[in-house]
Amino acid sequence: MKIEKTEFARFNLKEETLDTLEMLGYLQMTPIQEQVIPRILDGCDVVGKSQTGSGKTAAFGIPICDQVQWKENAPQALILEPTRELAVQVREELFQIGRKRRIKIPVVFGGMPIDKELLSLKQKSHIVVGTPGRVMDHVRRGSLELSKIHFLIIDEADLMLDMGFIDEVKEIITHVQESSAQVVRALFSATMQEHVVDLWKAYMPEAVQVTVESETETVSSIYQCAYEVENEEKFQVLMKLLQRENPADCMIFCETREMVNTLFQKLRRKGIRCGMLHGGMEQRDRLYAIGDFRQGKFHLFITTDVAARGIDFPDITHVINYDFPTKKENYVHRIGRTARNGKSGTAISLIQPEEKRAQQEAERYSGVTIKLRDKAELQVAEAQQRTFAKRQKEKVILKEGKGAVFKESITKLTIGGGKKSKMRAGDVVGTICSIDGVSADDIGIIDVRDSITYVELLNGKGARVYEILQKKPIKGKLRKIQKTDR
Ligand code: AMP
Repeated sequence: MKIEKTEFARFNLKEETLDTLEMLGYLQMTPIQEQVIPRILDGCDVVGKSQTGSGKTAAFGIPICDQVQWKENAPQALILEPTRELAVQVREELFQIGRKRRIKIPVVFGGMPIDKELLSLKQKSHIVVGTPGRVMDHVRRGSLELSKIHFLIIDEADLMLDMGFIDEVKEIITHVQESSAQVVRALFSATMQEHVVDLWKAYMPEAVQVTVESETETVSSIYQCAYEVENEEKFQVLMKLLQRENPADCMIFCETREMVNTLFQKLRRKGIRCGMLHGGMEQRDRLYAIGDFRQGKFHLFITTDVAARGIDFPDITHVINYDFPTKKENYVHRIGRTARNGKSGTAISLIQPEEKRAQQEAERYSGVTIKLRDKAELQVAEAQQRTFAKRQKEKVILKEGKGAVFKESITKLTIGGGKKSKMRAGDVVGTICSIDGVSADDIGIIDVRDSITYVELLNGKGARVYEILQKKPIKGKLRKIQKTDR
Protein backbone atom coordinates (compact mmCIF):
# COMPACT_ATOMS: atom_id res chain seq x y z
CA MET A 1 0.00 0.00 0.00
CA LYS A 2 1.28 3.45 -0.90
CA ILE A 3 1.87 5.56 2.20
CA GLU A 4 0.37 8.97 1.58
CA LYS A 5 2.77 11.73 2.49
CA THR A 6 0.48 14.64 1.86
CA GLU A 7 -2.70 15.53 3.74
CA PHE A 8 -4.28 16.40 0.42
CA ALA A 9 -4.61 12.67 -0.22
CA ARG A 10 -7.74 12.92 1.92
CA PHE A 11 -9.50 14.38 -1.11
CA ASN A 12 -10.33 12.49 -4.22
CA LEU A 13 -7.60 14.13 -6.33
CA LYS A 14 -5.80 12.72 -9.33
CA GLU A 15 -2.52 10.91 -8.81
CA GLU A 16 -0.65 13.58 -10.83
CA THR A 17 -2.04 16.33 -8.63
CA LEU A 18 -1.04 14.55 -5.42
CA ASP A 19 2.43 13.81 -6.78
CA THR A 20 2.92 17.45 -7.69
CA LEU A 21 1.78 18.67 -4.28
CA GLU A 22 4.21 16.29 -2.65
CA MET A 23 7.04 17.55 -4.86
CA LEU A 24 6.16 21.15 -4.02
CA GLY A 25 6.33 20.24 -0.33
CA TYR A 26 2.66 20.92 0.27
CA LEU A 27 2.27 18.23 2.87
CA GLN A 28 -0.07 19.88 5.32
CA MET A 29 -3.15 21.84 4.43
CA THR A 30 -3.55 25.42 5.49
CA PRO A 31 -6.89 26.19 7.22
CA ILE A 32 -8.34 27.90 4.17
CA GLN A 33 -7.40 24.95 1.96
CA GLU A 34 -9.03 22.55 4.39
CA GLN A 35 -12.30 24.42 4.06
CA VAL A 36 -12.30 25.60 0.46
CA ILE A 37 -11.03 22.56 -1.48
CA PRO A 38 -13.85 20.13 -0.56
CA ARG A 39 -16.46 22.79 -1.27
CA ILE A 40 -15.16 23.60 -4.72
CA LEU A 41 -14.83 19.88 -5.45
CA ASP A 42 -18.48 19.50 -4.43
CA GLY A 43 -19.47 22.27 -6.82
CA CYS A 44 -20.48 24.84 -4.16
CA ASP A 45 -19.97 28.58 -4.50
CA VAL A 46 -17.57 29.87 -1.83
CA VAL A 47 -16.85 33.23 -0.24
CA GLY A 48 -13.61 33.32 1.71
CA LYS A 49 -12.06 35.97 3.93
CA SER A 50 -8.36 35.46 3.79
CA GLN A 51 -5.03 37.20 3.79
CA THR A 52 -1.87 37.03 1.77
CA GLY A 53 0.11 34.00 2.80
CA SER A 54 -2.89 31.92 3.83
CA GLY A 55 -2.40 29.57 0.90
CA LYS A 56 -5.58 30.80 -0.75
CA THR A 57 -4.24 30.53 -4.31
CA ALA A 58 -3.69 26.81 -3.90
CA ALA A 59 -7.08 26.54 -2.13
CA PHE A 60 -8.82 27.33 -5.40
CA GLY A 61 -5.92 26.30 -7.64
CA ILE A 62 -5.73 22.68 -6.52
CA PRO A 63 -9.35 21.72 -7.28
CA ILE A 64 -9.29 23.68 -10.54
CA CYS A 65 -6.03 22.19 -11.81
CA ASP A 66 -7.26 18.76 -10.78
CA GLN A 67 -10.66 19.04 -12.39
CA VAL A 68 -10.03 20.66 -15.77
CA GLN A 69 -10.36 18.31 -18.71
CA TRP A 70 -7.10 18.20 -20.59
CA LYS A 71 -8.72 17.40 -23.94
CA GLU A 72 -11.04 20.40 -23.90
CA ASN A 73 -9.54 23.26 -25.94
CA ALA A 74 -11.65 26.17 -24.62
CA PRO A 75 -10.87 27.67 -21.20
CA GLN A 76 -12.62 26.00 -18.28
CA ALA A 77 -11.61 28.39 -15.52
CA LEU A 78 -11.40 32.17 -15.37
CA ILE A 79 -9.54 33.87 -12.55
CA LEU A 80 -9.81 37.62 -12.01
CA GLU A 81 -6.97 39.47 -10.28
CA PRO A 82 -6.80 43.19 -9.52
CA THR A 83 -3.20 43.79 -10.64
CA ARG A 84 -0.84 42.47 -13.25
CA GLU A 85 1.69 41.39 -10.63
CA LEU A 86 -0.93 39.29 -8.88
CA ALA A 87 -2.12 37.83 -12.16
CA VAL A 88 1.45 36.73 -12.93
CA GLN A 89 1.98 35.34 -9.42
CA VAL A 90 -1.26 33.37 -9.44
CA ARG A 91 -0.53 32.04 -12.91
CA GLU A 92 2.87 30.84 -11.70
CA GLU A 93 1.38 29.03 -8.68
CA LEU A 94 -1.29 27.34 -10.81
CA PHE A 95 1.28 26.45 -13.44
CA GLN A 96 3.33 24.61 -10.80
CA ILE A 97 0.28 22.84 -9.34
CA GLY A 98 -0.90 21.81 -12.81
CA ARG A 99 2.54 20.97 -14.10
CA LYS A 100 2.15 17.23 -14.27
CA ARG A 101 -1.24 17.60 -15.92
CA ARG A 102 0.23 19.90 -18.58
CA ILE A 103 -2.30 22.62 -17.86
CA LYS A 104 -2.03 25.64 -20.14
CA ILE A 105 -2.60 28.97 -18.43
CA PRO A 106 -2.37 32.17 -20.46
CA VAL A 107 -2.40 35.41 -18.52
CA VAL A 108 -4.03 38.56 -19.90
CA PHE A 109 -3.63 42.08 -18.55
CA GLY A 110 -3.76 45.67 -19.67
CA GLY A 111 -0.65 47.57 -20.66
CA MET A 112 0.70 44.67 -22.71
CA PRO A 113 0.27 44.27 -26.47
CA ILE A 114 -3.00 42.47 -27.09
CA ASP A 115 -1.83 40.64 -30.25
CA LYS A 116 0.21 38.07 -28.36
CA GLU A 117 -2.70 37.43 -26.04
CA LEU A 118 -5.02 36.95 -29.01
CA LEU A 119 -2.66 34.32 -30.37
CA SER A 120 -2.30 32.47 -27.08
CA LEU A 121 -6.08 32.49 -26.51
CA LYS A 122 -6.54 30.94 -29.94
CA GLN A 123 -4.47 27.95 -28.83
CA LYS A 124 -5.55 25.39 -26.30
CA SER A 125 -5.94 27.04 -22.89
CA HIS A 126 -7.36 25.45 -19.78
CA ILE A 127 -7.30 28.32 -17.31
CA VAL A 128 -7.19 32.06 -18.05
CA VAL A 129 -5.91 34.50 -15.42
CA GLY A 130 -6.42 38.20 -16.02
CA THR A 131 -7.28 41.68 -14.85
CA PRO A 132 -10.98 42.60 -15.26
CA GLY A 133 -10.51 45.37 -17.86
CA ARG A 134 -8.49 43.23 -20.23
CA VAL A 135 -10.67 40.17 -19.67
CA MET A 136 -13.74 42.23 -20.63
CA ASP A 137 -11.88 43.50 -23.67
CA HIS A 138 -11.34 39.91 -24.82
CA VAL A 139 -14.95 39.01 -24.07
CA ARG A 140 -16.16 41.90 -26.26
CA ARG A 141 -13.79 40.95 -29.08
CA GLY A 142 -14.97 37.37 -28.85
CA SER A 143 -11.41 36.19 -28.30
CA LEU A 144 -12.17 34.67 -24.89
CA GLU A 145 -14.57 31.78 -25.23
CA LEU A 146 -16.77 31.52 -22.13
CA SER A 147 -19.06 28.64 -22.99
CA LYS A 148 -16.90 26.02 -21.27
CA ILE A 149 -16.07 28.02 -18.13
CA HIS A 150 -16.80 25.86 -15.12
CA PHE A 151 -14.91 27.84 -12.46
CA LEU A 152 -14.95 31.59 -11.94
CA ILE A 153 -12.70 33.06 -9.23
CA ILE A 154 -12.85 36.66 -8.07
CA ASP A 155 -9.65 37.08 -6.10
CA GLU A 156 -8.68 40.00 -3.82
CA ALA A 157 -12.21 41.35 -4.31
CA ASP A 158 -11.80 44.33 -1.97
CA LEU A 159 -8.74 45.57 -3.82
CA MET A 160 -10.46 44.92 -7.13
CA LEU A 161 -13.42 47.05 -6.11
CA ASP A 162 -11.22 49.75 -4.53
CA MET A 163 -9.46 50.01 -7.88
CA GLY A 164 -12.74 50.76 -9.61
CA PHE A 165 -13.27 47.43 -11.38
CA ILE A 166 -16.77 46.87 -10.02
CA ASP A 167 -18.60 47.29 -13.34
CA GLU A 168 -16.25 45.00 -15.22
CA VAL A 169 -16.45 42.37 -12.48
CA LYS A 170 -20.26 42.41 -12.54
CA GLU A 171 -20.28 42.31 -16.33
CA ILE A 172 -17.92 39.33 -16.38
CA ILE A 173 -19.96 37.40 -13.80
CA THR A 174 -23.11 37.99 -15.87
CA HIS A 175 -21.46 37.00 -19.16
CA VAL A 176 -20.04 33.82 -17.66
CA GLN A 177 -23.40 32.94 -16.13
CA GLU A 178 -25.17 33.47 -19.44
CA SER A 179 -22.62 31.61 -21.55
CA SER A 180 -21.93 28.59 -19.46
CA ALA A 181 -24.37 26.11 -17.99
CA GLN A 182 -22.69 25.19 -14.72
CA VAL A 183 -20.32 27.53 -12.98
CA VAL A 184 -18.71 27.17 -9.57
CA ARG A 185 -17.91 30.64 -8.28
CA ALA A 186 -15.56 31.69 -5.52
CA LEU A 187 -14.78 35.12 -4.17
CA PHE A 188 -11.84 35.91 -1.88
CA SER A 189 -11.23 39.12 -0.03
CA ALA A 190 -8.91 40.26 2.75
CA THR A 191 -11.66 42.40 4.23
CA MET A 192 -15.42 42.08 3.98
CA GLN A 193 -16.30 45.70 3.32
CA GLU A 194 -19.85 46.62 2.47
CA HIS A 195 -19.37 46.73 -1.30
CA VAL A 196 -17.78 43.27 -1.28
CA VAL A 197 -20.68 41.86 0.75
CA ASP A 198 -23.15 43.55 -1.63
CA LEU A 199 -21.44 41.93 -4.57
CA TRP A 200 -21.59 38.39 -3.25
CA LYS A 201 -25.09 38.73 -1.88
CA ALA A 202 -26.28 39.93 -5.30
CA TYR A 203 -24.40 37.48 -7.49
CA MET A 204 -23.76 34.39 -5.41
CA PRO A 205 -26.28 34.44 -2.56
CA GLU A 206 -25.98 30.73 -1.85
CA ALA A 207 -22.23 30.76 -1.41
CA VAL A 208 -20.79 29.00 1.62
CA GLN A 209 -18.89 31.44 3.79
CA VAL A 210 -15.46 30.36 4.89
CA THR A 211 -13.58 32.09 7.65
CA VAL A 212 -10.14 31.31 8.91
CA GLU A 213 -8.33 32.48 12.02
CA SER A 214 -7.99 36.23 11.79
CA GLU A 215 -4.59 37.79 11.41
CA THR A 216 -4.89 39.60 14.73
CA GLU A 217 -4.86 36.21 16.45
CA THR A 218 -1.52 35.29 14.95
CA VAL A 219 0.51 38.47 15.49
CA SER A 220 1.36 37.57 19.07
CA SER A 221 4.16 35.30 17.80
CA ILE A 222 6.02 38.29 16.31
CA TYR A 223 8.51 40.28 18.34
CA GLN A 224 7.26 43.86 18.05
CA CYS A 225 9.04 46.98 19.18
CA ALA A 226 9.21 50.67 18.31
CA TYR A 227 11.49 53.69 18.56
CA GLU A 228 10.22 57.23 18.97
CA VAL A 229 11.95 59.44 16.43
CA GLU A 230 11.85 62.89 14.92
CA ASN A 231 11.62 63.15 11.16
CA GLU A 232 15.24 64.33 10.73
CA GLU A 233 16.74 61.34 12.53
CA LYS A 234 14.67 58.60 10.91
CA PHE A 235 17.22 57.61 8.29
CA GLN A 236 20.04 57.48 10.78
CA VAL A 237 17.99 55.27 13.14
CA LEU A 238 17.08 53.01 10.23
CA MET A 239 20.76 52.63 9.32
CA LYS A 240 21.60 51.60 12.87
CA LEU A 241 18.76 49.12 12.94
CA LEU A 242 19.88 47.57 9.68
CA GLN A 243 23.48 47.28 10.86
CA ARG A 244 22.47 45.77 14.18
CA GLU A 245 19.88 43.37 12.88
CA ASN A 246 21.49 42.62 9.52
CA PRO A 247 18.16 41.11 8.46
CA ALA A 248 18.12 38.03 6.27
CA ASP A 249 15.07 39.30 4.36
CA CYS A 250 13.36 42.53 5.27
CA MET A 251 10.39 44.54 3.99
CA ILE A 252 10.50 48.24 4.73
CA PHE A 253 7.13 49.99 4.50
CA CYS A 254 6.53 53.64 3.66
CA GLU A 255 3.24 55.48 3.37
CA THR A 256 3.82 57.11 -0.02
CA ARG A 257 5.47 56.36 -3.36
CA GLU A 258 7.64 59.44 -2.96
CA MET A 259 8.96 58.19 0.36
CA VAL A 260 9.71 54.77 -1.14
CA ASN A 261 11.67 56.49 -3.91
CA THR A 262 13.56 58.78 -1.55
CA LEU A 263 14.52 56.01 0.85
CA PHE A 264 15.59 53.76 -2.01
CA GLN A 265 17.88 56.49 -3.39
CA LYS A 266 19.33 57.22 0.04
CA LEU A 267 20.16 53.59 0.75
CA ARG A 268 21.59 53.09 -2.73
CA ARG A 269 23.81 56.14 -2.29
CA LYS A 270 25.23 54.43 0.79
CA GLY A 271 26.02 51.38 -1.31
CA ILE A 272 23.30 49.27 0.26
CA ARG A 273 21.65 46.69 -1.93
CA CYS A 274 17.90 47.12 -1.96
CA GLY A 275 14.89 47.13 -4.23
CA MET A 276 11.62 49.02 -4.31
CA LEU A 277 8.04 48.61 -5.39
CA HIS A 278 5.35 51.22 -5.79
CA GLY A 279 2.42 51.93 -8.06
CA GLY A 280 4.20 54.69 -9.97
CA MET A 281 6.81 52.34 -11.40
CA GLU A 282 6.71 50.92 -14.92
CA GLN A 283 5.03 47.53 -15.14
CA ARG A 284 8.21 45.80 -16.26
CA ASP A 285 10.27 47.28 -13.44
CA ARG A 286 7.71 46.17 -10.89
CA LEU A 287 7.80 42.59 -12.09
CA TYR A 288 11.62 42.63 -12.12
CA ALA A 289 11.76 44.05 -8.59
CA ILE A 290 9.45 41.33 -7.26
CA GLY A 291 11.43 38.61 -9.05
CA ASP A 292 14.80 39.96 -7.90
CA PHE A 293 13.72 40.08 -4.25
CA ARG A 294 12.35 36.55 -4.44
CA GLN A 295 15.62 35.37 -5.95
CA GLY A 296 17.64 37.03 -3.21
CA LYS A 297 19.42 39.62 -5.36
CA PHE A 298 18.87 42.00 -2.44
CA HIS A 299 17.51 41.56 1.05
CA LEU A 300 15.86 44.91 1.71
CA PHE A 301 12.64 45.66 -0.12
CA ILE A 302 11.06 49.08 0.24
CA THR A 303 7.39 49.29 -0.62
CA THR A 304 3.95 50.80 -0.06
CA ASP A 305 1.06 48.79 1.32
CA VAL A 306 -0.95 48.88 -1.88
CA ALA A 307 1.84 47.86 -4.26
CA ALA A 308 2.84 44.85 -2.14
CA ARG A 309 -0.70 43.73 -1.47
CA GLY A 310 -1.18 40.02 -2.10
CA ILE A 311 2.36 39.56 -3.39
CA ASP A 312 3.86 36.51 -1.76
CA PHE A 313 7.39 36.69 -0.35
CA PRO A 314 8.24 33.68 1.75
CA ASP A 315 10.69 33.77 4.67
CA ILE A 316 10.56 37.45 5.57
CA THR A 317 12.49 37.74 8.84
CA HIS A 318 11.98 41.46 9.52
CA VAL A 319 9.38 44.09 8.84
CA ILE A 320 10.32 47.72 9.38
CA ASN A 321 7.69 50.44 9.45
CA TYR A 322 9.74 53.40 8.29
CA ASP A 323 6.48 55.34 8.28
CA PHE A 324 3.91 54.11 10.77
CA PRO A 325 0.75 53.01 8.93
CA THR A 326 -2.16 55.41 9.10
CA LYS A 327 -4.66 52.53 8.88
CA LYS A 328 -4.66 50.12 11.83
CA GLU A 329 -5.41 47.12 9.59
CA ASN A 330 -2.25 47.83 7.62
CA TYR A 331 -0.13 47.45 10.75
CA VAL A 332 -1.42 43.91 11.12
CA HIS A 333 -1.12 43.12 7.39
CA ARG A 334 2.45 44.42 7.32
CA ILE A 335 3.80 42.58 10.33
CA GLY A 336 1.96 39.42 9.28
CA ARG A 337 4.50 39.20 6.44
CA THR A 338 6.95 37.72 8.89
CA ALA A 339 6.83 34.73 11.25
CA ARG A 340 5.14 32.46 8.74
CA ASN A 341 5.10 28.68 8.91
CA GLY A 342 5.99 28.54 12.57
CA LYS A 343 9.12 30.67 12.13
CA SER A 344 9.91 33.65 14.33
CA GLY A 345 9.81 37.23 13.10
CA THR A 346 10.63 40.78 14.14
CA ALA A 347 8.63 43.93 13.43
CA ILE A 348 10.21 47.29 14.22
CA SER A 349 8.38 50.60 13.91
CA LEU A 350 9.70 54.13 13.80
CA ILE A 351 7.15 56.42 15.37
CA GLN A 352 7.08 60.18 15.02
CA PRO A 353 5.20 62.22 17.64
CA GLU A 354 2.27 62.79 15.27
CA GLU A 355 2.01 59.04 14.64
CA LYS A 356 1.42 58.16 18.33
CA ARG A 357 -2.32 58.11 17.84
CA ALA A 358 -2.08 55.65 14.95
CA GLN A 359 0.19 53.49 17.11
CA GLN A 360 -2.39 53.37 19.90
CA GLU A 361 -5.11 52.44 17.44
CA ALA A 362 -2.98 49.67 15.97
CA GLU A 363 -2.34 48.35 19.48
CA ARG A 364 -6.02 48.36 20.36
CA TYR A 365 -6.86 46.64 17.07
CA SER A 366 -4.20 43.94 17.33
CA GLY A 367 -4.48 43.51 21.09
CA VAL A 368 -0.70 43.68 21.45
CA THR A 369 1.37 46.37 23.15
CA ILE A 370 4.26 47.48 20.99
CA LYS A 371 7.33 47.58 23.23
CA LEU A 372 8.84 51.07 23.21
CA ARG A 373 12.62 50.98 23.18
CA ASP A 374 15.06 53.77 23.83
CA LYS A 375 16.96 54.89 20.73
CA ALA A 376 19.92 55.77 22.99
CA GLU A 377 20.37 51.98 23.40
CA LEU A 378 20.86 51.63 19.68
CA GLN A 379 24.61 51.31 19.72
CA VAL A 380 26.22 49.59 16.78
CA ALA A 381 29.48 47.77 17.37
CA GLU A 382 32.22 48.20 14.80
CA ALA A 383 32.11 44.50 14.01
CA GLN A 384 28.39 44.79 13.24
CA GLN A 385 29.07 47.70 10.89
CA ARG A 386 31.77 45.73 9.13
CA THR A 387 29.64 42.62 8.76
CA PHE A 388 26.79 44.64 7.32
CA ALA A 389 29.06 46.54 4.91
CA LYS A 390 30.75 43.32 3.79
CA ARG A 391 27.42 41.72 3.05
CA GLN A 392 26.59 44.48 0.57
CA LYS A 393 29.52 43.41 -1.58
CA GLU A 394 29.18 39.67 -1.26
CA LYS A 395 28.46 37.60 -4.34
CA VAL A 396 24.76 36.99 -4.65
CA ILE A 397 23.67 33.39 -4.32
CA LEU A 398 20.36 33.11 -6.10
CA LYS A 399 17.57 31.27 -4.35
CA GLU A 400 15.85 28.58 -6.33
CA GLY A 401 12.26 29.22 -7.35
CA LYS A 402 9.34 26.91 -6.72
CA GLY A 403 9.78 25.23 -10.08
CA ALA A 404 13.26 24.02 -9.10
CA VAL A 405 11.82 20.85 -7.58
CA PHE A 406 10.78 19.77 -11.04
CA LYS A 407 14.21 20.30 -12.53
CA GLU A 408 15.31 16.70 -12.12
CA SER A 409 12.23 15.18 -13.62
CA ILE A 410 11.40 17.77 -16.27
CA THR A 411 13.67 18.67 -19.17
CA LYS A 412 12.84 21.35 -21.65
CA LEU A 413 14.06 20.98 -25.23
CA THR A 414 14.01 23.35 -28.17
CA ILE A 415 13.40 21.97 -31.62
CA GLY A 416 14.50 23.88 -34.70
CA GLY A 417 11.34 24.60 -36.73
CA GLY A 418 7.93 25.99 -35.92
CA LYS A 419 4.74 27.33 -37.45
CA LYS A 420 6.55 28.78 -40.46
CA SER A 421 7.65 25.29 -41.47
CA LYS A 422 4.17 23.96 -40.65
CA MET A 423 5.32 22.13 -37.51
CA ARG A 424 2.41 21.10 -35.30
CA ALA A 425 2.31 19.77 -31.76
CA GLY A 426 1.09 16.46 -33.19
CA ASP A 427 4.31 16.03 -35.23
CA VAL A 428 6.39 16.38 -32.08
CA VAL A 429 4.19 14.03 -30.06
CA GLY A 430 4.20 11.46 -32.87
CA THR A 431 7.99 11.35 -33.14
CA ILE A 432 8.63 11.33 -29.41
CA CYS A 433 6.07 8.60 -28.79
CA SER A 434 7.74 6.41 -31.39
CA ILE A 435 10.79 6.23 -29.11
CA ASP A 436 10.89 2.98 -27.14
CA GLY A 437 9.79 3.43 -23.52
CA VAL A 438 8.38 6.91 -24.03
CA SER A 439 4.65 7.63 -24.13
CA ALA A 440 2.35 10.65 -24.41
CA ASP A 441 2.25 10.78 -20.59
CA ASP A 442 5.93 11.69 -20.62
CA ILE A 443 5.35 14.79 -22.73
CA GLY A 444 4.61 18.06 -20.99
CA ILE A 445 3.71 21.40 -22.50
CA ILE A 446 4.45 21.90 -26.19
CA ASP A 447 4.75 25.46 -27.41
CA VAL A 448 5.04 25.91 -31.17
CA ARG A 449 6.38 29.37 -32.04
CA ASP A 450 7.17 30.80 -35.48
CA SER A 451 10.53 29.13 -36.07
CA ILE A 452 11.14 27.22 -32.87
CA THR A 453 9.23 24.70 -30.77
CA TYR A 454 9.56 24.11 -27.05
CA VAL A 455 8.70 20.75 -25.54
CA GLU A 456 8.84 19.54 -21.95
CA LEU A 457 9.76 15.94 -21.20
CA LEU A 458 8.51 14.61 -17.88
CA ASN A 459 9.33 11.69 -15.61
CA GLY A 460 13.08 11.89 -16.16
CA LYS A 461 12.77 10.90 -19.85
CA GLY A 462 14.44 14.09 -21.14
CA ALA A 463 18.00 12.82 -21.48
CA ARG A 464 16.98 9.80 -23.53
CA VAL A 465 14.66 11.76 -25.83
CA TYR A 466 17.38 14.40 -26.32
CA GLU A 467 19.89 11.72 -27.34
CA ILE A 468 17.59 9.98 -29.77
CA LEU A 469 16.18 13.13 -31.41
CA GLN A 470 19.71 14.05 -32.48
CA LYS A 471 19.41 11.30 -35.07
CA LYS A 472 15.68 10.98 -35.53
CA PRO A 473 13.86 13.22 -38.00
CA ILE A 474 10.74 15.17 -37.05
CA LYS A 475 8.35 15.90 -39.90
CA GLY A 476 10.80 14.38 -42.35
CA LYS A 477 13.85 16.42 -41.32
CA LEU A 478 16.64 16.17 -38.79
CA ARG A 479 16.17 19.11 -36.43
CA LYS A 480 18.48 21.05 -34.21
CA ILE A 481 17.65 19.85 -30.68
CA GLN A 482 18.90 21.70 -27.62
CA LYS A 483 18.29 21.66 -23.90
CA THR A 484 17.03 24.95 -22.47
CA ASP A 485 16.19 26.55 -19.12
CA ARG A 486 13.64 28.98 -20.52
P1 AMP B 1 -0.88 32.56 -1.03
O1 AMP B 1 -1.55 32.92 0.25
O2 AMP B 1 -1.79 31.84 -1.95
O3 AMP B 1 -0.19 33.74 -1.65
O4 AMP B 1 0.26 31.47 -0.67
C1 AMP B 1 1.34 31.73 0.18
C2 AMP B 1 2.51 30.78 -0.02
O5 AMP B 1 2.26 29.52 0.60
C3 AMP B 1 2.86 30.49 -1.45
O6 AMP B 1 4.26 30.59 -1.59
C4 AMP B 1 2.41 29.06 -1.66
O7 AMP B 1 3.21 28.43 -2.63
C5 AMP B 1 2.60 28.45 -0.29
N1 AMP B 1 1.68 27.35 0.03
C6 AMP B 1 0.37 27.27 -0.29
N2 AMP B 1 -0.19 26.16 0.21
C7 AMP B 1 0.78 25.50 0.89
C8 AMP B 1 0.83 24.29 1.65
N3 AMP B 1 -0.25 23.53 1.82
N4 AMP B 1 2.01 23.94 2.20
C9 AMP B 1 3.10 24.72 2.04
N5 AMP B 1 3.13 25.89 1.35
C10 AMP B 1 1.97 26.28 0.77
